[in-house]
Amino acid sequence: MRLAVIDEKKCEPKKCGNLCEKVCPRNKLKEKCITIEKTAKINEELCVGCGICANRCPFGAIKIVNTPEKIGHLVYRYGENKFSLYNLPIPKKKVIIGLIGRNGIGKSTAIKILAKKKEIASENFPTLLRVYLSEEKTISYKPQILKPVDIEKIDKSIIRELNIKKKPNYSGGELQLLNIGLCLSKEADLYLLDEPSSYLDVVSRLKMANLIKDRLKDKEVIIVEHDLVILDYLADEVYLLYGSPGVYGVVSTLYPSLRGINSYLAGYLPAENVRIRGDRIKFDINLQEDLKLEKLISFSNLEKKRGDFKLKVRGGEIYKNEILGIIGPNSIGKTTFMEILAGKLKSDKGSVSCKSSISYKPQYLYPDFSGTVEEIVPKSRAFKEQIAYPLHLETLYKKNVVDLSGGELQTLAIALCLSKEADLYLLDEPSAFLDIENRLQLVKILGRIIKNKPASIVIVDHDLHLLSQISNRILFFKGKPAKSGYAEIIRTYDALNNFLKNFNITFRRDPETGRFKANKAGSQLDMEQKKRKEFLSLK
Ligand code: ADP
Ligand code: ADP
Ligand code: MG
Repeated sequence: MRLAVIDEKKCEPKKCGNLCEKVCPRNKLKEKCITIEKTAKINEELCVGCGICANRCPFGAIKIVNTPEKIGHLVYRYGENKFSLYNLPIPKKKVIIGLIGRNGIGKSTAIKILAKKKEIASENFPTLLRVYLSEEKTISYKPQILKPVDIEKIDKSIIRELNIKKKPNYSGGELQLLNIGLCLSKEADLYLLDEPSSYLDVVSRLKMANLIKDRLKDKEVIIVEHDLVILDYLADEVYLLYGSPGVYGVVSTLYPSLRGINSYLAGYLPAENVRIRGDRIKFDINLQEDLKLEKLISFSNLEKKRGDFKLKVRGGEIYKNEILGIIGPNSIGKTTFMEILAGKLKSDKGSVSCKSSISYKPQYLYPDFSGTVEEIVPKSRAFKEQIAYPLHLETLYKKNVVDLSGGELQTLAIALCLSKEADLYLLDEPSAFLDIENRLQLVKILGRIIKNKPASIVIVDHDLHLLSQISNRILFFKGKPAKSGYAEIIRTYDALNNFLKNFNITFRRDPETGRFKANKAGSQLDMEQKKRKEFLSLK
């Protein structure tokens, strides 16, 4: 049921004297389970997965893994030697189920099978799944790739709640809301929502989540989500998808949401005895405000008019080694401010004093390079170790830049931005299209950058965990989207607290992982925190 896998880059038989070959119990029986060529080779037929070689290897080059055939049922394969999916999530009445996992691990494939957009490969399913699939269900499905939607087909009350207006052209966020609105307008037994948060700002994410909670209480719901705050807020139970992106994906057993998300963060799935990551992730809120207080940039009160939109930013400064987070709804002037900082746009009033070199990742990305990823990235060892490896960028090296998916292109853009020598890194919505794993890694990389060099970072994002973990302070935007924006720098805690106050939601922190958990409205904790005006409790 288990198999040894060799990382050939780590294997150095000359330095260990072929240790694995000597300790293997099958080799001791004169069988050729492990042989040494340039590196060690393990015969899959003979290997019993005992793990002795893995334990003895001084370079950690051998890993013991569970093979998917033994943990699950093959439900779908795109073709020979192409991606295979093992197991399927099974919807449950009156339960909102979340799917968590990296990009390319099979979440959309699973959703499409349940939506009956794909035929399944095998009759050989466990009873529960066969019974479920044989039932007649009406289905409403919001695909990951958005479609144009006729606003007239959406329930009027949903239009009002989501505050969507009829227009000749819709932005990504508006189109997402229309797609979600249409999905929720249909009467069905099963609702499938594939990445409803993408393109949505932090305000619309909570609105979307509230709408799903209210309207789909009695239904079967499955939702794919990378924003852990939203996922935890919505999902009662979760399936974790693991495996090897692009190669195979396995759907775990169903976990209660708390235990499932925490297991994912811990990197270990107890029910299947599978390790999905070497290290454990813990969320800390960054409350360190008093940095060295050496200014990198200062700006006076700024004003900028863009069409009908007017932005005002209260004067402030960015310190050396600081990460300044930016939070606010869409169309409130965040990108405009970034462009002013980057020197791409001039303010009408006020100015930025800045002699620093800047590396800028814009919000919208266009692949404008005709070669492969490998040709465009730096070759240095530091880049490989500190940026490419944690972001799993090396798996993309052979792909053409123009063929990358949204999440892959984002990962590349972040890596390139951070690889440049600069005093100030500007990142506009880096978590857009990133999977949960790369979001977790991004936090680590950014933390390491400001620790190791005299650099500062300004980051616009909609993922509350990401922002609260890394921001020393926050530029907080208020106003009326597309009309007027007003921003000033405040303490990270005050920004989060104000934001939650506007929604009348209270959050506590999960003791095991530090992540945010919404209190149930009207619960004792909720009422106590509201009385103390502590919408985010730090305990
Ligand atoms: P996720 O939703 O978790 O990002 P998907 O289910 O979209 O993942 O895709 C899983 C894997 O299947 C990906 O690696 C993708 O390359 C592969 N895949 C998707 N569609 C096809 C297809 N039509 N032909 C071959 N492979 C595909
Ligand atoms: P955010 O980044 O917060 O979503 P932006 O700074 O991109 O907001 O945009 C703020 C407002 O300015 C929006 O209403 C947008 O339509 C408007 N705007 C942005 N760029 C231009 C432009 N080049 N010409 C006219 N209006 C613009
Ligand atoms: Mg923007």
